[in-house]
Amino acid sequence: KKITIAIDGFSSTGKSTLAKQLARHLGYAYVDTGAMYRAVTLYAMENGFIDTEFFNSEGLTDCIDDISLQFLFNPDLGFAEMYLNEENVERKIRTLPVSNFVSRVAEVSAVRAMLVKQQQHMGEHKGVVMDGRDIGTVVFPNAELKLFMTASPETRAQRRFEELTQKGDTVTFDEVLHNVQERDYIDTHRKDSPLVKAADAIEIDNSDLSIQQQFDTVVALAKK
Ligand code: C5P
Repeated sequence: KKITIAIDGFSSTGKSTLAKQLARHLGYAYVDTGAMYRAVTLYAMENGFIDTEFFNSEGLTDCIDDISLQFLFNPDLGFAEMYLNEENVERKIRTLPVSNFVSRVAEVSAVRAMLVKQQQHMGEHKGVVMDGRDIGTVVFPNAELKLFMTASPETRAQRRFEELTQKGDTVTFDEVLHNVQERDYIDTHRKDSPLVKAADAIEIDNSDLSIQQQFDTVVALAKK
């Protein structure tokens, strides 16, 4: 019987790596909800709702119906890529400017309401692994398996730093650490669906786990 797997936790805790592995292993669909918040952030940047520090959240809210998001499966990569109004934005949404603003966009109630609704729709037939910040608490409170991922901020910043520099981005470790800590703060303090561990979620601290060890741990849980 197919189930819903909700994976929540702090930034750069390896949620997406685990979610992709699990989805492939179980033959489930994978939904990266962070990509959706990132795509809305990109839309806000490209349409003049974000000007360095100033964020016109009312302006964005007024245009929310003009934002069309789609995941299209890329057979070469083996996973789906994010499309914003028909454009593949997979690369653009992973840059530091988007990362620096996404948590503020994710505070906007109209944005959360729209994305949660789309996510619930995508997962209505079960057989889905979804990762984010509010999946086990808000999107699918009845998910059969809920995981809550943690790791120290330094471990997470190091992973993110390696990922970004490998892609050729010029960032410093301190910039990335600052971004990770700032997002943690905003995500745990926002009024609307703050990041918290669901009461029935299983916490996995992977500071000292390899990707394989983590996968084995979770596959054992999924079988129970
Ligand atoms: O998972 P990722 O780091 O790509 O998410 C980017 C940001 O989007 C998070 O820091 C958070 O502010 C927001 N987010 C959210 N709810 C989700 C997924 C992401 O608020 N379900």
